[in-house]
Amino acid sequence: MIKVYESFNISQVGQAESLLNSEGIETFIRNEFASSVMGEVPFVEVCPQLFILNAAEEERARELLASFENQPTQADWQCGQCGSEVDGPFGQCWSCGQLRPA
Ligand SMILES: [Zn+2]
Repeated sequence: MIKVYESFNISQVGQAESLLNSEGIETFIRNEFASSVMGEVPFVEVCPQLFILNAAEEERARELLASFENQPTQADWQCGQCGSEVDGPFGQCWSCGQLRPA
């Protein structure tokens, strides 16, 4: 197995995994449930890590992940109608349904 990605943000590791899976690359996540033991073991050992099973796919996996990491992260935005803070990826206010301003 070859480690191709790691992040303390498990949802990012999950997104990286689905990206590789959608390209037919088999993956394995180590420390997926690490957050439940945070504080009991050294931090570095519980960082979720994404591995690929087939070493021949390493180069392709790294290319895919490079484009994944270069995606701009969307900033949180404030709803103009009700004033709620909305998480960046959402295009609609969770509170009142107002669409994100263009
Ligand atoms: Zn709103």
